[in-house]
Amino acid sequence: MEIKNGIPVSPGVAIAPALVLDSESFRIPRRFIRKDEVETELKRFELARTRAISEITDIRDSVHSIAKGEVGLIFEAHLRMLEDPLIRAEIPEKIKAKRYTPEYAVSRVFKKIIKPMKEIHDPYFLQRVNDFYDIQKRLLRNLLGQRALDLQQLDRKVVVVAHDLTPSQTATLDKKMVAGFVTDVGGATSHTAILANALGIPAVVGLGTITSDVSGGDVVIVDGKSGRVIVNPDDATRAKYEARGQEHADREKRLVDAAAKASRTTADDAAVSLYANIEWDSEIEQARKYGADGVGLFRTEFIYAQFGAHPTEEQHYEVYRRAHAMLEGRLLTLRTMDFGADKFAAEVGLEPEENPFLGCRSIRLSLREPKLLITQVRAILRAAALGPTRMMLPMVGSIEEFRAARQIVNNVLADLKREGVAHRADVPVGMMVEVPSAALSIEHFLADSDFFSIGTNDLVQYTLAVDRNNQYVANLFKHTNPAVLKLLSGVIKACNAAGKPVSVCGEMAGEARYAMLLLGMGLRDFSVGPTSLPELRTLLSRVTTAEAAALADKALAMSEADQIAALLDAEADRLLPPDEFGY
Ligand code: PEP
Ligand code: MG
Repeated sequence: MEIKNGIPVSPGVAIAPALVLDSESFRIPRRFIRKDEVETELKRFELARTRAISEITDIRDSVHSIAKGEVGLIFEAHLRMLEDPLIRAEIPEKIKAKRYTPEYAVSRVFKKIIKPMKEIHDPYFLQRVNDFYDIQKRLLRNLLGQRALDLQQLDRKVVVVAHDLTPSQTATLDKKMVAGFVTDVGGATSHTAILANALGIPAVVGLGTITSDVSGGDVVIVDGKSGRVIVNPDDATRAKYEARGQEHADREKRLVDAAAKASRTTADDAAVSLYANIEWDSEIEQARKYGADGVGLFRTEFIYAQFGAHPTEEQHYEVYRRAHAMLEGRLLTLRTMDFGADKFAAEVGLEPEENPFLGCRSIRLSLREPKLLITQVRAILRAAALGPTRMMLPMVGSIEEFRAARQIVNNVLADLKREGVAHRADVPVGMMVEVPSAALSIEHFLADSDFFSIGTNDLVQYTLAVDRNNQYVANLFKHTNPAVLKLLSGVIKACNAAGKPVSVCGEMAGEARYAMLLLGMGLRDFSVGPTSLPELRTLLSRVTTAEAAALADKALAMSEADQIAALLDAEADRLLPPDEFGY
Protein backbone atom coordinates (compact mmCIF):
# COMPACT_ATOMS: atom_id res chain seq x y z
CA MET A 1 0.00 0.00 0.00
CA GLU A 2 1.32 3.42 -0.96
CA ILE A 3 -0.13 6.80 0.03
CA LYS A 4 0.28 9.94 -2.12
CA ASN A 5 -0.91 13.48 -1.52
CA GLY A 6 -2.02 15.84 -4.26
CA ILE A 7 -4.37 18.74 -4.79
CA PRO A 8 -8.02 17.81 -4.17
CA VAL A 9 -10.22 19.26 -6.91
CA SER A 10 -13.49 17.37 -6.93
CA PRO A 11 -14.89 15.79 -3.75
CA GLY A 12 -16.05 12.22 -3.27
CA VAL A 13 -14.33 8.86 -3.01
CA ALA A 14 -13.52 6.51 -5.91
CA ILE A 15 -12.13 2.99 -5.56
CA ALA A 16 -11.32 1.08 -8.74
CA PRO A 17 -8.51 -0.49 -10.80
CA ALA A 18 -6.24 2.00 -12.58
CA LEU A 19 -6.29 2.70 -16.29
CA VAL A 20 -2.95 4.39 -17.02
CA LEU A 21 -2.92 6.62 -20.09
CA ASP A 22 0.19 7.27 -22.15
CA SER A 23 1.31 10.86 -22.03
CA GLU A 24 1.43 12.93 -25.20
CA SER A 25 5.15 12.26 -25.42
CA PHE A 26 4.32 8.71 -26.60
CA ARG A 27 7.32 6.76 -25.39
CA ILE A 28 7.12 3.94 -27.88
CA PRO A 29 8.58 0.58 -26.92
CA ARG A 30 10.55 -1.49 -29.43
CA ARG A 31 8.03 -4.07 -30.52
CA PHE A 32 7.78 -6.46 -33.43
CA ILE A 33 4.94 -8.01 -35.37
CA ARG A 34 4.44 -11.50 -36.81
CA LYS A 35 4.78 -12.13 -40.56
CA ASP A 36 1.05 -12.74 -40.95
CA GLU A 37 0.33 -9.37 -39.32
CA VAL A 38 2.34 -7.32 -41.82
CA GLU A 39 -0.53 -6.64 -44.23
CA THR A 40 -2.95 -5.43 -41.54
CA GLU A 41 -0.28 -3.32 -39.87
CA LEU A 42 0.62 -1.70 -43.21
CA LYS A 43 -3.05 -0.86 -43.68
CA ARG A 44 -3.20 0.54 -40.17
CA PHE A 45 -0.29 2.85 -40.91
CA GLU A 46 -1.79 3.99 -44.20
CA LEU A 47 -5.08 4.72 -42.44
CA ALA A 48 -3.29 6.79 -39.79
CA ARG A 49 -1.45 8.70 -42.52
CA THR A 50 -4.60 9.48 -44.48
CA ARG A 51 -6.41 10.49 -41.30
CA ALA A 52 -3.54 12.84 -40.46
CA ILE A 53 -3.81 14.32 -43.97
CA SER A 54 -7.50 14.89 -43.62
CA GLU A 55 -7.10 16.49 -40.16
CA ILE A 56 -4.44 18.86 -41.44
CA THR A 57 -6.52 19.71 -44.51
CA ASP A 58 -9.45 20.61 -42.23
CA ILE A 59 -7.25 22.77 -40.05
CA ARG A 60 -5.70 24.43 -43.09
CA ASP A 61 -9.13 25.21 -44.52
CA SER A 62 -10.48 26.56 -41.27
CA VAL A 63 -7.45 28.75 -40.61
CA HIS A 64 -7.70 29.98 -44.18
CA SER A 65 -11.14 31.29 -43.37
CA ILE A 66 -9.93 33.14 -40.28
CA ALA A 67 -6.29 33.92 -41.01
CA LYS A 68 -4.48 34.62 -44.17
CA GLY A 69 -0.93 33.91 -45.19
CA GLU A 70 1.64 32.26 -43.02
CA VAL A 71 -0.45 30.04 -40.78
CA GLY A 72 -1.98 28.32 -43.78
CA LEU A 73 1.47 27.81 -45.28
CA ILE A 74 2.61 25.85 -42.22
CA PHE A 75 -0.13 23.32 -42.80
CA GLU A 76 0.62 23.19 -46.52
CA ALA A 77 4.16 22.22 -45.52
CA HIS A 78 2.84 19.53 -43.13
CA LEU A 79 0.78 18.05 -45.94
CA ARG A 80 3.83 17.92 -48.21
CA MET A 81 5.84 16.16 -45.50
CA LEU A 82 3.23 13.44 -45.20
CA GLU A 83 3.65 12.78 -48.93
CA ASP A 84 7.44 12.68 -48.66
CA PRO A 85 8.97 9.30 -49.63
CA LEU A 86 10.75 9.19 -46.29
CA ILE A 87 7.39 8.88 -44.61
CA ARG A 88 5.34 7.31 -47.37
CA ALA A 89 7.86 4.64 -48.26
CA GLU A 90 10.42 4.23 -45.53
CA ILE A 91 7.98 3.63 -42.69
CA PRO A 92 6.09 0.84 -44.58
CA GLU A 93 9.50 -0.57 -45.54
CA LYS A 94 10.46 -0.86 -41.87
CA ILE A 95 7.15 -2.53 -41.08
CA LYS A 96 7.68 -5.05 -43.90
CA ALA A 97 11.39 -5.75 -43.70
CA LYS A 98 12.09 -5.33 -40.01
CA ARG A 99 8.61 -6.24 -38.75
CA TYR A 100 8.46 -3.15 -36.58
CA THR A 101 5.07 -2.12 -35.24
CA PRO A 102 3.88 0.98 -37.13
CA GLU A 103 4.30 3.03 -33.94
CA TYR A 104 7.90 1.92 -33.54
CA ALA A 105 8.63 2.41 -37.26
CA VAL A 106 7.25 5.96 -37.08
CA SER A 107 9.38 6.81 -34.07
CA ARG A 108 12.55 5.34 -35.69
CA VAL A 109 12.11 7.14 -38.99
CA PHE A 110 11.30 10.48 -37.38
CA LYS A 111 14.31 10.16 -35.10
CA LYS A 112 16.45 9.67 -38.21
CA ILE A 113 14.95 12.77 -39.86
CA ILE A 114 15.06 15.02 -36.81
CA LYS A 115 18.48 14.22 -35.33
CA PRO A 116 20.69 15.85 -38.02
CA MET A 117 18.39 18.86 -38.24
CA LYS A 118 18.73 19.50 -34.53
CA GLU A 119 22.50 19.41 -34.79
CA ILE A 120 22.59 22.31 -37.27
CA HIS A 121 21.48 24.85 -34.60
CA ASP A 122 19.87 27.07 -37.17
CA PRO A 123 16.53 28.78 -36.39
CA TYR A 124 15.09 27.69 -39.73
CA PHE A 125 15.90 24.03 -39.11
CA LEU A 126 14.71 24.23 -35.52
CA GLN A 127 11.33 25.38 -36.78
CA ARG A 128 11.29 22.42 -39.20
CA VAL A 129 12.13 20.13 -36.28
CA ASN A 130 9.00 21.36 -34.51
CA ASP A 131 6.99 20.70 -37.64
CA PHE A 132 8.29 17.13 -37.79
CA TYR A 133 7.51 16.60 -34.11
CA ASP A 134 4.03 17.85 -34.76
CA ILE A 135 3.47 15.42 -37.61
CA GLN A 136 4.97 12.55 -35.65
CA LYS A 137 2.57 13.25 -32.80
CA ARG A 138 -0.35 13.40 -35.17
CA LEU A 139 0.56 10.07 -36.76
CA LEU A 140 1.07 8.43 -33.40
CA ARG A 141 -2.16 9.85 -32.06
CA ASN A 142 -3.95 8.33 -35.01
CA LEU A 143 -2.18 5.01 -34.59
CA LEU A 144 -2.89 4.95 -30.87
CA GLY A 145 -6.35 6.40 -31.48
CA GLN A 146 -7.83 3.24 -30.08
CA ARG A 147 -6.77 4.49 -26.66
CA ALA A 148 -8.85 7.65 -26.86
CA LEU A 149 -11.75 5.46 -27.88
CA ASP A 150 -11.10 3.24 -24.88
CA LEU A 151 -11.96 6.15 -22.64
CA GLN A 152 -15.41 6.37 -24.12
CA GLN A 153 -16.10 2.66 -24.35
CA LEU A 154 -15.03 1.16 -21.07
CA ASP A 155 -16.55 -2.08 -19.93
CA ARG A 156 -15.72 -1.73 -16.24
CA LYS A 157 -15.22 1.02 -13.67
CA VAL A 158 -11.72 2.50 -13.61
CA VAL A 159 -9.70 5.27 -12.05
CA VAL A 160 -8.02 7.12 -14.92
CA VAL A 161 -4.34 7.86 -14.24
CA ALA A 162 -2.82 10.40 -16.62
CA HIS A 163 -0.04 12.93 -16.89
CA ASP A 164 -2.69 15.51 -17.66
CA LEU A 165 -6.09 15.38 -19.28
CA THR A 166 -6.85 17.86 -22.03
CA PRO A 167 -10.25 19.57 -21.90
CA SER A 168 -11.30 17.46 -24.90
CA GLN A 169 -10.24 14.21 -23.21
CA THR A 170 -12.01 15.11 -19.99
CA ALA A 171 -15.10 16.09 -21.91
CA THR A 172 -15.35 12.68 -23.53
CA LEU A 173 -14.79 10.52 -20.44
CA ASP A 174 -17.49 7.95 -19.96
CA LYS A 175 -18.87 9.21 -16.68
CA LYS A 176 -20.58 5.92 -15.86
CA MET A 177 -17.33 4.00 -16.04
CA VAL A 178 -14.75 6.56 -14.89
CA ALA A 179 -14.99 6.39 -11.11
CA GLY A 180 -12.31 9.02 -10.57
CA PHE A 181 -9.14 10.45 -11.99
CA VAL A 182 -5.69 11.46 -10.87
CA THR A 183 -3.00 13.38 -12.73
CA ASP A 184 0.69 14.26 -12.44
CA VAL A 185 0.14 17.97 -13.11
CA GLY A 186 -2.56 20.59 -12.59
CA GLY A 187 -3.81 23.10 -10.04
CA ALA A 188 -7.01 23.76 -8.10
CA THR A 189 -8.57 26.04 -10.71
CA SER A 190 -7.19 24.30 -13.81
CA HIS A 191 -9.73 23.38 -16.44
CA THR A 192 -9.23 19.72 -15.69
CA ALA A 193 -10.37 20.51 -12.14
CA ILE A 194 -13.37 22.51 -13.30
CA LEU A 195 -14.43 19.69 -15.60
CA ALA A 196 -14.03 17.04 -12.90
CA ASN A 197 -16.48 19.06 -10.82
CA ALA A 198 -18.84 19.51 -13.72
CA LEU A 199 -18.85 15.74 -14.28
CA GLY A 200 -19.13 15.03 -10.55
CA ILE A 201 -16.07 12.72 -10.69
CA PRO A 202 -13.76 12.60 -7.63
CA ALA A 203 -10.34 13.86 -8.71
CA VAL A 204 -6.90 14.71 -7.37
CA VAL A 205 -4.34 16.57 -9.50
CA GLY A 206 -0.72 17.68 -9.15
CA LEU A 207 0.53 14.32 -7.83
CA GLY A 208 3.89 14.68 -9.59
CA THR A 209 4.74 11.13 -10.61
CA ILE A 210 1.50 9.20 -10.30
CA THR A 211 1.70 7.86 -13.88
CA SER A 212 4.98 6.12 -13.09
CA ASP A 213 3.95 5.08 -9.54
CA VAL A 214 0.86 3.20 -10.66
CA SER A 215 0.57 0.31 -13.09
CA GLY A 216 -2.55 -0.60 -15.01
CA GLY A 217 -4.79 -2.78 -12.86
CA ASP A 218 -3.47 -1.57 -9.47
CA VAL A 219 -6.38 -0.71 -7.21
CA VAL A 220 -6.49 3.02 -6.53
CA ILE A 221 -8.45 5.00 -3.95
CA VAL A 222 -9.08 8.64 -4.80
CA ASP A 223 -10.22 10.88 -1.96
CA GLY A 224 -11.21 14.06 -3.79
CA LYS A 225 -11.78 15.95 -0.56
CA SER A 226 -8.46 15.43 1.23
CA GLY A 227 -6.30 14.97 -1.87
CA ARG A 228 -5.13 11.55 -0.71
CA VAL A 229 -4.53 8.80 -3.27
CA ILE A 230 -3.88 5.27 -2.03
CA VAL A 231 -2.42 2.60 -4.28
CA ASN A 232 -3.22 -1.06 -3.55
CA PRO A 233 -4.88 -0.43 -0.17
CA ASP A 234 -5.11 -3.14 2.50
CA ASP A 235 -8.57 -4.41 3.46
CA ALA A 236 -9.00 -2.13 6.47
CA THR A 237 -8.09 1.00 4.48
CA ARG A 238 -10.39 0.02 1.67
CA ALA A 239 -13.28 -0.47 4.10
CA LYS A 240 -12.55 2.91 5.72
CA TYR A 241 -12.71 4.71 2.39
CA GLU A 242 -15.81 2.85 1.28
CA ALA A 243 -17.49 4.21 4.40
CA ARG A 244 -16.14 7.69 3.66
CA GLY A 245 -17.55 7.53 0.11
CA GLN A 246 -20.96 6.70 1.57
CA GLU A 247 -20.63 9.62 4.00
CA HIS A 248 -19.91 11.95 1.11
CA ALA A 249 -22.98 10.74 -0.78
CA ASP A 250 -25.08 11.23 2.38
CA ARG A 251 -23.72 14.76 2.79
CA GLU A 252 -24.67 15.61 -0.79
CA LYS A 253 -28.16 14.34 -0.18
CA ARG A 254 -28.57 16.26 3.07
CA LEU A 255 -27.38 19.46 1.37
CA VAL A 256 -29.76 19.00 -1.55
CA ASP A 257 -32.65 18.47 0.89
CA ALA A 258 -31.63 21.49 3.00
CA ALA A 259 -31.26 23.70 -0.09
CA ALA A 260 -34.69 22.70 -1.39
CA LYS A 261 -36.20 23.90 1.88
CA ALA A 262 -33.96 26.96 2.29
CA SER A 263 -35.21 30.45 1.45
CA ARG A 264 -33.80 32.04 -1.71
CA THR A 265 -32.67 35.02 0.33
CA THR A 266 -30.21 35.67 3.14
CA ALA A 267 -31.42 35.34 6.74
CA ASP A 268 -32.37 39.05 6.64
CA ASP A 269 -34.30 38.68 3.37
CA ALA A 270 -31.77 40.13 0.93
CA ALA A 271 -32.31 38.51 -2.47
CA VAL A 272 -29.37 36.47 -3.75
CA SER A 273 -29.23 34.87 -7.19
CA LEU A 274 -27.36 31.65 -7.71
CA TYR A 275 -26.47 30.92 -11.31
CA ALA A 276 -24.70 27.92 -12.78
CA ASN A 277 -21.38 27.75 -14.63
CA ILE A 278 -21.57 25.21 -17.44
CA GLU A 279 -19.38 23.78 -20.18
CA TRP A 280 -22.08 21.76 -21.96
CA ASP A 281 -25.78 22.45 -22.34
CA SER A 282 -26.50 19.01 -20.84
CA GLU A 283 -25.35 20.33 -17.44
CA ILE A 284 -28.44 22.52 -17.29
CA GLU A 285 -30.50 19.52 -16.19
CA GLN A 286 -28.54 19.18 -12.95
CA ALA A 287 -28.35 22.95 -12.51
CA ARG A 288 -32.16 23.12 -12.68
CA LYS A 289 -32.50 20.22 -10.27
CA TYR A 290 -30.33 22.11 -7.79
CA GLY A 291 -32.40 25.28 -8.15
CA ALA A 292 -30.17 27.47 -10.37
CA ASP A 293 -31.65 30.84 -11.27
CA GLY A 294 -30.14 30.52 -14.72
CA VAL A 295 -26.72 30.20 -16.34
CA GLY A 296 -24.19 32.84 -15.27
CA LEU A 297 -21.35 31.47 -17.40
CA PHE A 298 -21.47 29.15 -20.40
CA ARG A 299 -17.87 28.39 -21.37
CA THR A 300 -18.76 28.13 -25.04
CA GLU A 301 -15.24 27.12 -26.12
CA PHE A 302 -16.25 23.61 -25.03
CA ILE A 303 -18.55 23.46 -28.04
CA TYR A 304 -15.28 22.67 -29.80
CA ALA A 305 -15.00 19.41 -27.93
CA GLN A 306 -18.39 18.45 -29.34
CA PHE A 307 -17.69 19.31 -32.97
CA GLY A 308 -13.91 18.92 -33.08
CA ALA A 309 -13.58 21.80 -35.55
CA HIS A 310 -14.67 25.41 -35.79
CA PRO A 311 -18.39 25.24 -35.11
CA THR A 312 -20.59 26.78 -37.77
CA GLU A 313 -23.18 29.42 -36.96
CA GLU A 314 -25.89 26.76 -37.10
CA GLN A 315 -24.00 24.46 -34.71
CA HIS A 316 -23.60 27.31 -32.23
CA TYR A 317 -27.26 28.24 -32.62
CA GLU A 318 -28.45 24.69 -32.06
CA VAL A 319 -26.54 24.43 -28.76
CA TYR A 320 -27.95 27.77 -27.53
CA ARG A 321 -31.44 26.80 -28.67
CA ARG A 322 -31.25 23.60 -26.62
CA ALA A 323 -29.96 25.56 -23.63
CA HIS A 324 -32.89 27.97 -23.79
CA ALA A 325 -35.36 25.13 -24.12
CA MET A 326 -34.00 23.55 -20.91
CA LEU A 327 -33.83 26.86 -19.05
CA GLU A 328 -37.51 27.65 -19.69
CA GLY A 329 -37.20 31.41 -19.57
CA ARG A 330 -34.26 31.66 -17.17
CA LEU A 331 -31.19 33.72 -17.95
CA LEU A 332 -28.49 32.34 -20.30
CA THR A 333 -25.10 34.10 -20.17
CA LEU A 334 -22.99 33.12 -23.16
CA ARG A 335 -19.33 33.90 -22.89
CA THR A 336 -17.72 34.27 -26.31
CA MET A 337 -15.01 31.70 -26.96
CA ASP A 338 -12.12 31.88 -24.55
CA PHE A 339 -9.41 30.15 -26.58
CA GLY A 340 -5.70 29.91 -26.15
CA ALA A 341 -3.11 28.98 -23.54
CA ASP A 342 -4.45 25.83 -21.87
CA LYS A 343 -7.74 25.78 -23.74
CA PHE A 344 -7.98 24.29 -27.23
CA ALA A 345 -4.92 26.15 -28.54
CA ALA A 346 -3.82 23.16 -30.61
CA GLU A 347 -7.32 22.37 -31.83
CA VAL A 348 -7.79 25.84 -33.34
CA GLY A 349 -4.39 25.61 -34.99
CA LEU A 350 -2.73 28.35 -32.93
CA GLU A 351 0.98 28.72 -33.39
CA PRO A 352 2.89 27.86 -30.22
CA GLU A 353 3.76 30.97 -28.22
CA GLU A 354 6.61 31.53 -25.77
CA ASN A 355 4.22 32.60 -23.05
CA PRO A 356 0.70 31.70 -24.12
CA PHE A 357 -1.04 32.88 -20.93
CA LEU A 358 0.17 36.38 -21.76
CA GLY A 359 -0.21 35.86 -25.48
CA CYS A 360 -2.82 36.06 -28.18
CA ARG A 361 -5.65 34.34 -26.34
CA SER A 362 -9.31 34.90 -25.78
CA ILE A 363 -10.65 38.38 -26.72
CA ARG A 364 -7.27 39.22 -28.27
CA LEU A 365 -7.62 36.30 -30.64
CA SER A 366 -11.25 37.18 -31.36
CA LEU A 367 -10.21 40.69 -32.33
CA ARG A 368 -7.30 39.45 -34.44
CA GLU A 369 -9.51 36.92 -36.22
CA PRO A 370 -12.91 38.67 -36.22
CA LYS A 371 -14.52 36.02 -38.45
CA LEU A 372 -14.45 33.58 -35.57
CA LEU A 373 -16.21 36.07 -33.30
CA ILE A 374 -18.69 37.16 -35.95
CA THR A 375 -19.90 33.58 -36.53
CA GLN A 376 -20.54 33.16 -32.83
CA VAL A 377 -22.09 36.59 -32.27
CA ARG A 378 -24.57 35.98 -35.10
CA ALA A 379 -25.68 32.76 -33.41
CA ILE A 380 -25.92 34.44 -29.99
CA LEU A 381 -28.04 37.34 -31.24
CA ARG A 382 -30.33 34.94 -33.11
CA ALA A 383 -30.69 32.61 -30.13
CA ALA A 384 -31.46 35.62 -27.92
CA ALA A 385 -34.88 35.74 -29.59
CA LEU A 386 -35.63 32.44 -27.77
CA GLY A 387 -35.09 33.60 -24.17
CA PRO A 388 -33.24 36.03 -21.89
CA THR A 389 -29.64 36.12 -23.07
CA ARG A 390 -26.50 38.03 -22.16
CA MET A 391 -23.24 38.09 -24.10
CA MET A 392 -20.04 38.19 -22.09
CA LEU A 393 -16.55 39.01 -23.38
CA PRO A 394 -13.61 37.19 -21.73
CA MET A 395 -10.18 38.52 -20.69
CA VAL A 396 -10.91 42.17 -21.43
CA GLY A 397 -7.92 44.22 -20.31
CA SER A 398 -8.63 47.65 -21.76
CA ILE A 399 -11.63 49.73 -22.72
CA GLU A 400 -10.35 49.85 -26.31
CA GLU A 401 -10.71 46.07 -26.51
CA PHE A 402 -14.23 46.22 -25.14
CA ARG A 403 -15.21 48.95 -27.59
CA ALA A 404 -13.67 47.13 -30.55
CA ALA A 405 -15.64 43.97 -29.71
CA ARG A 406 -18.81 45.96 -29.15
CA GLN A 407 -18.35 47.55 -32.58
CA ILE A 408 -18.25 44.05 -34.09
CA VAL A 409 -21.47 43.19 -32.26
CA ASN A 410 -23.08 46.36 -33.62
CA ASN A 411 -21.97 45.50 -37.16
CA VAL A 412 -23.42 42.01 -36.81
CA LEU A 413 -26.69 43.50 -35.58
CA ALA A 414 -26.84 45.72 -38.66
CA ASP A 415 -26.15 42.70 -40.91
CA LEU A 416 -28.89 40.60 -39.30
CA LYS A 417 -31.34 43.46 -39.62
CA ARG A 418 -30.46 44.02 -43.27
CA GLU A 419 -30.76 40.30 -43.99
CA GLY A 420 -34.13 40.15 -42.23
CA VAL A 421 -32.93 37.35 -39.92
CA ALA A 422 -34.83 36.94 -36.63
CA HIS A 423 -32.75 38.13 -33.66
CA ARG A 424 -32.82 40.36 -30.61
CA ALA A 425 -31.17 43.77 -30.76
CA ASP A 426 -31.03 44.66 -27.06
CA VAL A 427 -28.86 41.81 -25.79
CA PRO A 428 -26.76 43.08 -22.84
CA VAL A 429 -23.04 42.91 -23.63
CA GLY A 430 -20.85 42.55 -20.56
CA MET A 431 -17.35 41.53 -19.66
CA MET A 432 -15.35 39.27 -17.41
CA VAL A 433 -13.16 41.08 -14.91
CA GLU A 434 -10.20 38.71 -14.77
CA VAL A 435 -7.26 40.83 -15.85
CA PRO A 436 -5.90 43.07 -13.05
CA SER A 437 -5.81 46.14 -15.35
CA ALA A 438 -9.59 45.92 -15.77
CA ALA A 439 -10.16 45.44 -12.05
CA LEU A 440 -7.89 48.34 -11.17
CA SER A 441 -9.55 50.75 -13.59
CA ILE A 442 -13.10 49.45 -13.35
CA GLU A 443 -14.50 53.01 -13.32
CA HIS A 444 -13.53 53.36 -17.00
CA PHE A 445 -15.63 50.36 -18.00
CA LEU A 446 -18.81 51.18 -16.10
CA ALA A 447 -20.42 53.32 -18.78
CA ASP A 448 -19.74 50.90 -21.67
CA SER A 449 -20.25 47.44 -20.26
CA ASP A 450 -23.81 46.35 -19.40
CA PHE A 451 -22.73 43.91 -16.69
CA PHE A 452 -19.63 42.44 -15.08
CA SER A 453 -18.56 39.02 -13.89
CA ILE A 454 -15.37 38.57 -11.92
CA GLY A 455 -13.31 35.58 -13.03
CA THR A 456 -11.26 34.88 -9.95
CA ASN A 457 -9.42 31.92 -11.51
CA ASP A 458 -7.56 34.18 -13.90
CA LEU A 459 -7.67 37.26 -11.69
CA VAL A 460 -5.78 35.44 -8.93
CA GLN A 461 -3.36 33.93 -11.46
CA TYR A 462 -2.50 37.29 -13.02
CA THR A 463 -2.52 39.32 -9.80
CA LEU A 464 -0.26 36.95 -7.90
CA ALA A 465 1.79 35.81 -10.92
CA VAL A 466 0.92 32.21 -10.03
CA ASP A 467 0.06 29.75 -12.82
CA ARG A 468 -3.37 28.27 -12.07
CA ASN A 469 -2.34 24.94 -13.64
CA ASN A 470 1.03 24.42 -12.00
CA GLN A 471 1.16 22.09 -9.02
CA TYR A 472 4.55 23.44 -7.94
CA VAL A 473 3.07 26.84 -7.12
CA ALA A 474 -0.39 25.65 -6.07
CA ASN A 475 0.42 26.57 -2.45
CA LEU A 476 0.84 30.20 -3.58
CA PHE A 477 -2.53 30.37 -5.37
CA LYS A 478 -4.47 32.06 -2.59
CA HIS A 479 -7.89 33.62 -3.04
CA THR A 480 -7.46 35.31 0.34
CA ASN A 481 -4.32 37.23 -0.59
CA PRO A 482 -5.07 40.84 0.51
CA ALA A 483 -4.33 42.17 -3.00
CA VAL A 484 -7.01 39.87 -4.42
CA LEU A 485 -9.53 40.86 -1.74
CA LYS A 486 -8.87 44.55 -2.41
CA LEU A 487 -9.52 44.09 -6.14
CA LEU A 488 -12.69 42.08 -5.50
CA SER A 489 -14.10 44.55 -3.05
CA GLY A 490 -13.21 47.52 -5.30
CA VAL A 491 -14.94 46.02 -8.34
CA ILE A 492 -18.07 44.92 -6.46
CA LYS A 493 -18.46 48.32 -4.76
CA ALA A 494 -17.90 50.28 -7.99
CA CYS A 495 -20.46 48.19 -9.89
CA ASN A 496 -23.03 48.41 -7.09
CA ALA A 497 -22.59 52.19 -6.86
CA ALA A 498 -23.10 52.51 -10.63
CA GLY A 499 -26.11 50.18 -10.56
CA LYS A 500 -24.40 47.67 -12.89
CA PRO A 501 -25.02 43.96 -12.29
CA VAL A 502 -21.94 42.19 -10.96
CA SER A 503 -21.31 38.54 -10.19
CA VAL A 504 -18.35 36.31 -9.38
CA CYS A 505 -18.01 33.26 -11.62
CA GLY A 506 -14.55 31.95 -10.72
CA GLU A 507 -14.24 28.77 -8.63
CA MET A 508 -14.00 30.97 -5.54
CA ALA A 509 -17.73 31.77 -5.72
CA GLY A 510 -18.62 28.08 -5.37
CA GLU A 511 -16.60 27.43 -2.23
CA ALA A 512 -18.61 27.70 0.96
CA ARG A 513 -15.68 29.24 2.81
CA TYR A 514 -15.72 32.37 0.61
CA ALA A 515 -19.49 32.88 0.31
CA MET A 516 -19.90 35.03 3.40
CA LEU A 517 -16.90 37.18 2.49
CA LEU A 518 -18.24 37.89 -1.01
CA LEU A 519 -21.73 38.57 0.34
CA GLY A 520 -20.19 40.95 2.85
CA MET A 521 -18.39 42.81 0.06
CA GLY A 522 -21.81 43.48 -1.45
CA LEU A 523 -22.08 40.60 -3.93
CA ARG A 524 -25.62 39.33 -4.57
CA ASP A 525 -25.09 37.26 -7.75
CA PHE A 526 -22.99 34.10 -7.59
CA SER A 527 -22.22 31.85 -10.53
CA VAL A 528 -20.90 28.42 -9.61
CA GLY A 529 -20.48 24.82 -10.78
CA PRO A 530 -23.91 23.11 -10.47
CA THR A 531 -22.71 20.72 -7.77
CA SER A 532 -21.90 23.68 -5.47
CA LEU A 533 -25.41 25.15 -5.65
CA PRO A 534 -27.04 23.27 -2.71
CA GLU A 535 -24.22 24.05 -0.30
CA LEU A 536 -24.15 27.70 -1.27
CA ARG A 537 -27.93 28.12 -1.12
CA THR A 538 -28.04 26.58 2.36
CA LEU A 539 -25.17 28.66 3.69
CA LEU A 540 -26.41 31.99 2.33
CA SER A 541 -29.90 31.42 3.75
CA ARG A 542 -28.35 31.16 7.22
CA VAL A 543 -26.41 34.42 7.31
CA THR A 544 -27.40 38.08 7.51
CA THR A 545 -25.88 40.75 5.27
CA ALA A 546 -24.78 42.70 8.38
CA GLU A 547 -22.87 39.69 9.77
CA ALA A 548 -21.30 39.13 6.37
CA ALA A 549 -20.31 42.81 6.00
CA ALA A 550 -18.64 42.76 9.42
CA LEU A 551 -16.68 39.64 8.45
CA ALA A 552 -15.61 41.18 5.12
CA ASP A 553 -14.42 44.36 6.86
CA LYS A 554 -12.42 42.28 9.30
CA ALA A 555 -10.86 40.19 6.51
CA LEU A 556 -10.02 43.27 4.42
CA ALA A 557 -8.10 44.76 7.33
CA MET A 558 -5.91 41.67 7.77
CA SER A 559 -2.54 41.16 6.11
CA GLU A 560 -1.92 37.40 6.00
CA ALA A 561 -3.75 35.19 3.52
CA ASP A 562 -3.65 32.09 5.74
CA GLN A 563 -5.07 33.91 8.75
CA ILE A 564 -7.89 35.28 6.61
CA ALA A 565 -8.58 31.76 5.29
CA ALA A 566 -8.69 30.38 8.86
CA LEU A 567 -11.19 33.08 9.87
CA LEU A 568 -13.40 32.27 6.87
CA ASP A 569 -13.18 28.51 7.47
CA ALA A 570 -14.36 28.92 11.06
CA GLU A 571 -17.39 30.93 9.89
CA ALA A 572 -18.26 28.42 7.16
CA ASP A 573 -18.10 25.56 9.70
CA ARG A 574 -20.38 27.51 12.02
CA LEU A 575 -22.98 27.91 9.25
CA LEU A 576 -22.68 24.38 7.85
CA PRO A 577 -21.65 22.36 10.93
CA PRO A 578 -19.87 19.12 10.08
CA ASP A 579 -22.03 17.28 12.64
CA GLU A 580 -25.17 18.36 10.76
CA PHE A 581 -23.89 17.62 7.27
CA GLY A 582 -21.01 15.19 7.77
CA TYR A 583 -17.84 14.77 5.69
C1 PEP B 1 -12.09 32.62 -14.43
O1 PEP B 1 -11.02 32.90 -14.97
O2 PEP B 1 -12.30 32.77 -13.20
C2 PEP B 1 -13.22 32.08 -15.21
C3 PEP B 1 -14.41 31.93 -14.67
O3 PEP B 1 -12.97 31.69 -16.49
P1 PEP B 1 -12.16 30.35 -16.89
O4 PEP B 1 -12.02 29.52 -15.66
O5 PEP B 1 -12.94 29.68 -17.96
O6 PEP B 1 -10.85 30.90 -17.37
MG1 MG C 1 -10.83 33.01 -17.13
